[in-house]
Amino acid sequence: MSSPHIVWLRRDLRMADQPALHAAAEAGPVIPVYVLDDAFAGDHAYGGASRWWLHHSLESLAKSLGARHSRIVLRRGDAPTVLAALAKETGAAAVHAIRHYEPWWRKAQTELREALPDDCTLELHDGNYLAEPGAVQTGSGGAYKIYTPFSKAVLAQMPPRDELPEPETIPLPETWPKSDDLADWKLLPTRPDWAGGMRAFWQVGEGAALERLEDWAGDVAGYDTGRNLPSQSLSSRLSPHLHWGEISPVQVWHHLSSGRSKGWKTFEKELIWRDYAQQTIAQFPDYPSRSYRDGYSGLWRSGKAAEADFAAWTKGMTGYPIVDAGMRQLWQTGWMHNRVRMIAASFLVKNLLIDWRRGEQWFWDCLVDADYGNNGVNWQWISGTGVDSNMFSRIMAPITQSEKFDAAAYIREHVPELAGLDDADIHDPPDGKRGDYPAQIIGHKAARERALDAYRKAKD
Ligand SMILES: Cc1cc2nc3c(=O)[nH]c(=O)nc-3n(C[C@H](O)[C@H](O)[C@H](O)COP(=O)(O)OP(=O)(O)OC[C@H]3O[C@@H](n4cnc5c(N)ncnc54)[C@H](O)[C@@H]3O)c2cc1C
Repeated sequence: MSSPHIVWLRRDLRMADQPALHAAAEAGPVIPVYVLDDAFAGDHAYGGASRWWLHHSLESLAKSLGARHSRIVLRRGDAPTVLAALAKETGAAAVHAIRHYEPWWRKAQTELREALPDDCTLELHDGNYLAEPGAVQTGSGGAYKIYTPFSKAVLAQMPPRDELPEPETIPLPETWPKSDDLADWKLLPTRPDWAGGMRAFWQVGEGAALERLEDWAGDVAGYDTGRNLPSQSLSSRLSPHLHWGEISPVQVWHHLSSGRSKGWKTFEKELIWRDYAQQTIAQFPDYPSRSYRDGYSGLWRSGKAAEADFAAWTKGMTGYPIVDAGMRQLWQTGWMHNRVRMIAASFLVKNLLIDWRRGEQWFWDCLVDADYGNNGVNWQWISGTGVDSNMFSRIMAPITQSEKFDAAAYIREHVPELAGLDDADIHDPPDGKRGDYPAQIIGHKAARERALDAYRKAKD
């Protein structure tokens, strides 16, 4: 019997178009492994919503592997140490993994290469992006910092590689190493069980991701305009499936690209934003926790009043229906519509003058698609502290945005105490019609002036 090949699974929980699994299955008996390490990512250890998704995604993949008489071995601890020990225990010839760019995983990849026994190699494969960091370069051979030239360069490289099918056979090892029991990891909330809204909203796993792609394919032509309308929910809702690697962007690209509609072209550029975010964290590993532009640290409010405002924002009680609808959608489903993410994030940073990193961490805990690159890049883009933006070029007016993007039905769905209001009142309910719904915590005009004033002072 030949030596087994370990597949180190991370955010790539799928069987099809999985280059690490494919390579391992061609080379010999396969041992798929997932290592849970709660310490390695520091303040970006998985939040509650991510842990919920991870549980169900692992369960789903174990089922699919089980149907092929294979399994996932679950282990806990420092990934390089655990994997090196497992390689020794099983006499593995290689560890295969898809490349990841979060700084803790880059470190783990380096450490693992060092820690493996001499007769075991680490084989890293590209697999989760249309263009991996480094795949496109500026004329002078450097990495792109700004999205638009980056996306043009990636578009010039399309189509992406062909999709890989599921391995025809997954050769089994002679004996299976011991595995933890998934239930013992306690990834699901129990006291209280706050995941009811997420269970109702999501189907988790590779099968569900492919089904969602199939169902949504008919909507891509209208994506260009539809994506901005939260009431109509016309975006793909593929983000958690893409984040966890239950589906690859290459699969999405090949499935949707045939129409070449305006909607598709816009959608393709959104997929490239994912790649851009990885490209950014590959260049600036602490981007999600450190402002790229200096000089704004004195800008943020702190103290009791700021804490009360932050709490109101997290609970969806700011008195701005569009912001509150988004924050409640996040709490209930682990997801928020992109247009509303922008409005809610801008409200925290500009209207409340609260440090964008507080928002980034809240989203990190609550989103099922919480992604180190995407979350950090978008928060810095909104706050104007990032590579590409000016601090106060984007003060979004929440009420105007709510009207412009026709959010009335979305607000009715997520802020039930306003459900009886008509379209004319719901974006900014008049005093006599608010009922139990709170007053605005600060008027938009006053907030705007306060923000511009603070910005001027910070600049001086
Ligand atoms: C403050 C803020 C925080 C965000 N945090 C995250 C996050 O943690 N994880 C995450 O996946 N997205 C994040 N986004 C980007 C975007 O809101 C979500 O990807 C999108 O809402 C997911 O819905 P969808 O799958 O229907 O997207 P679609 O509109 O259908 O887009 C298709 C795919 O393209 C990618 N994509 C779309 N927009 C962006 C974008 N602006 N940046 C990067 N990738 C994008 C996603 O993978 C998405 O699934 C954030 C945006 C903001 C403004």
